[in-house]
Amino acid sequence: MYEPLVRHALFPAYETIVKRRGTAAHIAEYERGQWLDRKSLDALQLRKLNELLDHCWRHVPFLQRHWREHGVRPGALTSVAELAAYPTLTKAHISANYDDMVATPWKGRTLTKVTGGSTGDPFRFEYTMDVYARRTAVMWRGYGWGGASLGTRTAYLWGTGLRKGGWGGFKDRLYHGAFNRRFFDAFSLSEANIDERIEEIVRYRPKAVVGYVTPVAVVARRMIETGKTLSGVRGVLTGAEALHGPQRRDIEQAFGCPVFNTYGSREVMLMASECDRHQGLHVNADHLVFETLDSAGAPVVGSSGDVAVTDLHNYGMPMVRYLNGDRATYAGTACACGRGLPLLASIDGRVLDLIETPDGRHVPGEFFVYVMLDWPDVKQWQVVQTAPDAVQFRLVVPQPWTAERRDKLTAKVQATAGAAMRVEIIEVDSIASTPSGKRRLTISLANADMAA
Ligand SMILES: [Zn+2]
Repeated sequence: MYEPLVRHALFPAYETIVKRRGTAAHIAEYERGQWLDRKSLDALQLRKLNELLDHCWRHVPFLQRHWREHGVRPGALTSVAELAAYPTLTKAHISANYDDMVATPWKGRTLTKVTGGSTGDPFRFEYTMDVYARRTAVMWRGYGWGGASLGTRTAYLWGTGLRKGGWGGFKDRLYHGAFNRRFFDAFSLSEANIDERIEEIVRYRPKAVVGYVTPVAVVARRMIETGKTLSGVRGVLTGAEALHGPQRRDIEQAFGCPVFNTYGSREVMLMASECDRHQGLHVNADHLVFETLDSAGAPVVGSSGDVAVTDLHNYGMPMVRYLNGDRATYAGTACACGRGLPLLASIDGRVLDLIETPDGRHVPGEFFVYVMLDWPDVKQWQVVQTAPDAVQFRLVVPQPWTAERRDKLTAKVQATAGAAMRVEIIEVDSIASTPSGKRRLTISLANADMAA
């Protein structure tokens, strides 16, 4: 009963009246977009792309310089494939030319987001309220395929980012309560509290579960071992990490429903997600251009390539052919569900490893990304597990770290990884990149040789 109320009344009211985002109109547009055939989808994508490129040629000083330097001249493309003539864009380009990356008509009217970055540098970028509304709409579409549509009673096993007390905490609880979702902090999951946490989730009786792969898989394994079950769950949506076969089977057994993998990032939010045919992840091609490039920079299908993404609606800071540091494989096949959105076969080689704790738990690499957001002045960082009970933080910092900062970082890590985890913090001049030019943020014991 509650879901239609949220979808048709509460959410549009909140988004349009309170936030003035217009998300509801975007939701309707993307609901239609998924069913376009490939030809109509290509035409739509080309129209949006040409509008964005034209805007950049007029209003984004750095892109004009960057593109001219690579021999590209203004003019409409006749196919999306012609975008391959444009040079790619890196985090370094954006950071070094920040003001010139903001479109002149949008100066002073954009929102700023800071991420831990997938290359180890704190990364800042701008976006508009309109693109945020669109990204939210695209996210709900993808979540809906997995049974977690807007208003569905959903348990989130996530790094919460939730404010705990006071007015902020109250507003957060109200907001999430109104949208019928509840957050269970994935980063504080431990041997000591896992059964209690499972009990809470079972009592909450969610219709859908959303979470990082690792905590969801850990909870699922424990449920199987202790004979706990959940009924009435339509789908479990996982994200942020590669999902392996055994994890998928455990989760499906424990929660009694299919698993839907998703792929997103802080820069552009949801890029691709699985439908109920589970033949791959549908790319949101009516909202962004998603390319995978070989080592020579040429688009590839059927084998793994570097992800280059173009959000077609971020007119505040247009990131065209942005290399986000991930790798993925295009399937190049159509899905039996009939959606025209093309399929990814897999998300490969993210730059975050799991860290194992002395008591045998796994901490997702994302945890360290969240922790490091507290110190935006750190230029680069890397966490290497050097022993079963030790991690080493390597920091590139403008000035030596105080004892107070060291204690705070150590306390944060031990609060999640356990007091037995030793935390070593060293300052270094630079952090080595892998041969492909990426910097790994977290390196597990198994991969420790990569940290040399
Ligand atoms: Zn499908």
